[in-house]
Amino acid sequence: MAASTTDQPTWGKVLIAGGVDWDMIGRKPKAGEVPSTNTDIETLSSYRPHLETFHIIRELTDLKIVKIATGPNAAHSVFLTDDGDAWVLGRNEKGQLGLGDTDPHPYPVKVPTIYTTVGKKTSNVKFVNAAVGRNHTILIADNGAVYGAGDNKMGQLGNKTNGQYLQQSNRLVHIPQTSPVLVAALKDKVVTQVVCGTNHTLALADGIVYSWGFGGYGRLGHSKQEDLWSPMPIEQFAGSNKITRATKIAAGSSFSMALDGQNQFWLWGKWKTTGDGGGGTPWMYPRTLYDLNGWSFKSIGGGNVTLFCIPSVEPCTIAWGQGAVHSELGYGEGEARSSTKPDKIRPLEGLTMMDVSCGLGHSLLLCKPGQEKLQDLPKWPVLDVEEHCIECLSAEDEDSMLLCDKCDSGTHLQCTVPRLQEVPDVDWFCQSCTKAREMNKTKQSGDDSSSSPAKASAKRKAPAAKGSSKKSKANRSSDDEDSE
Ligand SMILES: [Zn+2]
Ligand SMILES: [Zn+2]
Repeated sequence: MAASTTDQPTWGKVLIAGGVDWDMIGRKPKAGEVPSTNTDIETLSSYRPHLETFHIIRELTDLKIVKIATGPNAAHSVFLTDDGDAWVLGRNEKGQLGLGDTDPHPYPVKVPTIYTTVGKKTSNVKFVNAAVGRNHTILIADNGAVYGAGDNKMGQLGNKTNGQYLQQSNRLVHIPQTSPVLVAALKDKVVTQVVCGTNHTLALADGIVYSWGFGGYGRLGHSKQEDLWSPMPIEQFAGSNKITRATKIAAGSSFSMALDGQNQFWLWGKWKTTGDGGGGTPWMYPRTLYDLNGWSFKSIGGGNVTLFCIPSVEPCTIAWGQGAVHSELGYGEGEARSSTKPDKIRPLEGLTMMDVSCGLGHSLLLCKPGQEKLQDLPKWPVLDVEEHCIECLSAEDEDSMLLCDKCDSGTHLQCTVPRLQEVPDVDWFCQSCTKAREMNKTKQSGDDSSSSPAKASAKRKAPAAKGSSKKSKANRSSDDEDSE
């Protein structure tokens, strides 16, 4: 074991809500797919699997995830582990997952080997940051090298030669970092954060928020709808007082958000369909939201239509968004899918979150590990769990069975390998899950074939169409409660 756990862990558990039918999220149905003449997305979404409540992503439960990343137009996501591995899932038609194929990967897959621009294999690259666009993915290594995969027709990835190579290979390859616009206008600035909406970009440097790109609906925050070809500081955050400067920025498709020096929430652009803040009356410059007055936040996220805020202190998550049809707000089973006003996500009350990232039709949360209430959340995909102990195959003495935190199967305390004397108060994984993870580690270190762990998981039983239909038989937390 490396450094011992502190009060402020740097890694967490990944939760997901919303659409998980990656090829279809946000798209109109094909003829004959829906038994109705009404084929709008709203109608359609009730025919496709989506997670109405936040689920723990099962394949990632035994990894220490330090970074979650998706984008307002992306139906794919990236997860980085504390040892610099990148895991991906989702839509992959343009090879945006960097796996060397264009097959859909519904569940997480580890990005195997990466390639240099000349096709040479590189290994032991440690990824420390990630950004996700509609059809591409950017990973940044600890040495500053930038890697990209996916569609390059808009020039998102740098230069033309590499773009050609990228399209041929669809693998994650090293790309030279060239961003002339940024270099010119922000040359002497230390940029700490860059975020992208549909056609606009924000950068944070010394608390000042710079914006450029498409200016429609006031998303750039300069009180006018003008497009900008180079970064321009937004007045609200450009003052000399640190308190009025920004500490964090986020971009949704047609809106932008920031936290100021007191961690207050600011919003501008078109963040609703109708009414104040909607297409008719977008917010042309940063404003605070009445409902969130007095709240202090540590993290914010903007999706296609969703807005998420993680409070600094209170163990809860606040989310809203008009026109959310894939349950990406995760309000819960049978609850409203869409909301014009900020609201707490009820099933997550009492849980401390660390970070959020919002995508097209789905939302990701990084949850502080070790919280008892985490065990109440369903895992995705939902599995059928054997009734017997997986070591001795006896279904007797169910109360002494320890449940695996990954696959939910039971093992008698006295059957655990290695043998445990008492119920551990940290995550515990069964012998079979532990072996599988170790095997994958060995396999992946010298082999870039497609035999990645999530290939196996993809063969698992169908994901839950409507939350978790089946809770595992015993509940380890009930043992804990008895002893309290
Ligand atoms: Zn047993
Ligand atoms: Zn297991």
